[in-house]
Amino acid sequence: MQLKKNHSLKKFNTFGIAAKAENFYSVQSESDFLDALKSAIRPLFILGGGSNLLLTKDVKGLVIKNEIKGIKIERQFKHCVHISAGAGENWHELVLWCINKKLGGIENLSLIPGTVGAAPIQNIGAYGVELKEVFVKLEAIEIASGKKKIFWKKDCQFGYRESVFKQKEKGNYFITKVFLRLNKKHNLNISYGAIKNTLKEQGIKKPSIKTISQAVIQIRSSKLPDPAKIGNSGSFFKNPEISKSQFKKLQKQFPNIVFYDLPNGKVKVPAGWLIEQDGWKGKRVGHTGAHKNQALVLVNYGKATGQEILQHAKRIIDSVNKKFGIKLKAEVNVY
Ligand code: FAD
Ligand code: NAP
Repeated sequence: MQLKKNHSLKKFNTFGIAAKAENFYSVQSESDFLDALKSAIRPLFILGGGSNLLLTKDVKGLVIKNEIKGIKIERQFKHCVHISAGAGENWHELVLWCINKKLGGIENLSLIPGTVGAAPIQNIGAYGVELKEVFVKLEAIEIASGKKKIFWKKDCQFGYRESVFKQKEKGNYFITKVFLRLNKKHNLNISYGAIKNTLKEQGIKKPSIKTISQAVIQIRSSKLPDPAKIGNSGSFFKNPEISKSQFKKLQKQFPNIVFYDLPNGKVKVPAGWLIEQDGWKGKRVGHTGAHKNQALVLVNYGKATGQEILQHAKRIIDSVNKKFGIKLKAEVNVY
């Protein structure tokens, strides 16, 4: 087992925070991970692509960098296929692999950074599609016992950017493999205006999983800050879901408020809109701030510390709460 000591994590988190790992170990297989468990070094911290993470301090113990690879068709059915993917596979490459094999279901989730193993942690979602819609099961190793466990869909308690792995089981398991069900006959989802408009601009009348993926890639590349150029972890906050009565009161006060009615009877108000209305969009404070094109994304202008970004996030939470009476919650995992 080759440990790296005091290893810089700057290249391993998309915020580009210069924190260090006391010990750092890359695992390519389950047995590599079991070797790490045999060491007495604790606590363990599992790292994927570091794209949903804000490091506010150095990481004590052992950082496990997940590099378990392998994509496989597990079972063929008449209308669908079950596939498995090693948790260290790059998510977007898995999406492209599926599209290449004409398997539908995750095309709307194109270009989301990070690993396959982290996708269930927050039930990744974009453009009206969530991982849970194609999820079958995952394999994980319990850190305390080293025992393997299967989590079926119901065990994961998926919610909006949520799962049991962000709640009760936070930090308890190392996810090693994810199983998905993809469709041979495609159910396309172009409910989000941005996709509809892009397809229209391109003159595409009969969309396919490939053209939807390409549209999503185009929209995201033009709108979202590229972590390779400016550090960020995507949406820093979740979009709040509020009751109809609270919404009605807000709408009286702010008639232009943007909203989406949800199937659960609540109303979703885009956090980006709240932050923008509150004057934070594009405003730089020290080495951080809310991005100029998407206020939901906090960025590192180069020299920000994790603490500085966290303090700014708290500033925005307080300010939005004062103006709208809505307390934003972080989506990013803060360490
Ligand atoms: P990491 O950041 O490495 O880890 C996240 C958390 O999961 C940590 O707590 C970590 O300990 C834990 N973890 C990671 N891997 C494992 C494992 N194998 N076993 C157990 N625990 C593990 N998210 C969306 O949902 N939708 C989007 O559209 C989206 N767009 C984004 C756009 C940009 C530009 C960026 C930077 C981020 C975006 N994200 C989005 C957030 C992020 O890409 C996803 O949450 C992604 O799934 C994180 O993967 P990761 O491998 O980088 O996880
Ligand atoms: P957008 O299209 O400008 O829309 C702003 C917000 O309004 C989104 O957050 C979305 O909520 C909501 N929305 C838009 N159209 C909707 C519809 N038809 N029905 C219900 N809700 C609708 O958002 P964007 O920033 O460019 O992001 C596009 C998609 O990528 C979104 O789904 C977003 O979640 C996802 N994304 C996620 C991250 C992340 O880090 N989590 C980063 C970038 C983009 P939802 O967010 O609930 O979909």
